[in-house]
Amino acid sequence: MHLRDTPQEAAFRRDLRAWLAEQVPRHRDGGAPGDWTKALHAAGYTGLTWPAAYGGRGLPPTYQGIYAEESALAEAPDHSNVIGLGMVGPTIVSHGSPEQQQRFLEPILSGAYVFCQGFSEPDAGSDLAAVRTRATATADGWRVTGEKVWSSYAHQADWCLLLARTQPDSTAHTGLTCLLVDMRSPGVQVLPLRQSTGDADFNQIVLDDVLVPRDCVLGPVGEGWRIAMTTLAHERGTFGITLTARLTVEFDRLLRTVRDLGLADDPTVRAELAELHVQLQALRWTGHRTMATLARTGKPGPESSVLKLHWSVTNQRLAAFALRLLGPAAVLDGPDSHAAGHWQHLRLRSRANSIEGGTSEILRGIIAERVLGLPRTR
Ligand SMILES: Cc1cc2nc3c(=O)[nH]c(=O)nc-3n(C[C@H](O)[C@H](O)[C@H](O)COP(=O)(O)OP(=O)(O)OC[C@H]3O[C@@H](n4cnc5c(N)ncnc54)[C@H](O)[C@@H]3O)c2cc1C
Repeated sequence: MHLRDTPQEAAFRRDLRAWLAEQVPRHRDGGAPGDWTKALHAAGYTGLTWPAAYGGRGLPPTYQGIYAEESALAEAPDHSNVIGLGMVGPTIVSHGSPEQQQRFLEPILSGAYVFCQGFSEPDAGSDLAAVRTRATATADGWRVTGEKVWSSYAHQADWCLLLARTQPDSTAHTGLTCLLVDMRSPGVQVLPLRQSTGDADFNQIVLDDVLVPRDCVLGPVGEGWRIAMTTLAHERGTFGITLTARLTVEFDRLLRTVRDLGLADDPTVRAELAELHVQLQALRWTGHRTMATLARTGKPGPESSVLKLHWSVTNQRLAAFALRLLGPAAVLDGPDSHAAGHWQHLRLRSRANSIEGGTSEILRGIIAERVLGLPRTR
């Protein structure tokens, strides 16, 4: 594991930091939706690790890690196609036909095609292999009926990577297929789900006799589980670095809140801050370990589960602590409240941290079995 940038990585970080310092303020406070994505694409910061043949720069994962860290620290907006860029695109690079690669990869990088991920269902979340959305063969492709839930960005998406059961009598991991579904197809209905924050970032997708042409099957029919695992492995790629950098930004904001409230000399406040700082450093080094495994093997490795679990605990703890500091003022929300309601929003949003991208219970099971080598429960 190397903890310092190579000279090439240091030069990349320096250029990126200078570019972000100039571009982020301009885009954070205005501009049309998609402008930031266009700027990122034009500057060559999309698809850093994708092969050059598909519009990427063919760089090692450490560069994606540097991008993730610097853009989070600069509080840069996200690319408009988070799922396409980080998960679906790399899956198409690995498993797509040459025609699919030609058709989808460049528009994913430029943000012209926004993707969502239609895996979870009302009865298939942690147990993803229980997927029941079914696709039946037609003369030209597949007819899909079912229901997906918690699909982030589906309300903005042009396309969905959908996991469906194509073999009716199959169970669990067999008989599943990945389909690229045009979200404007007749029979697709997207119903936004409102969260406790008031935002509606994710959605229910109802599919009623949706026709999917044969050339939109991703990978071999019946091997959807293997394809879906590629997608999920990419979700874990550099997300630890991003999450840790975002937590660093929140920790700095917390220090400002502590000072604003005149609590910097309070010994109980200082003790909690010190503990949060230690947790943050532990996360940072675990992130470096995950990155080292990714660079060596191409896969993030089971320590990424430690990272995700520990990040969600620390983020929730930090948000709860900030609200405790506000005391009775914590119940005031909106633009006139402390930090314009930032802590109230983070506290509510952070509740989902221990569910999204693998629940804490599932991650504890993975750590027990694959990191600690304890006996399997099933
Ligand atoms: C913010 C957010 C964004 C999301 N975005 C997407 C998306 O874009 N696309 C998508 O497909 N999905 C998405 N999801 C869904 C997410 O992947 C699921 O919520 C998650 O996998 C858990 O599934 P579930 O909600 O069905 O809970 P369940 O699997 O029903 O679990 C319910 C409870 O039982 C526990 N449990 C279940 N099985 C076990 C076990 N074997 N051992 C111990 N405990 C267990 C769980 O930990 C949990 O506490 C998103 C979720 C959130 C919160």
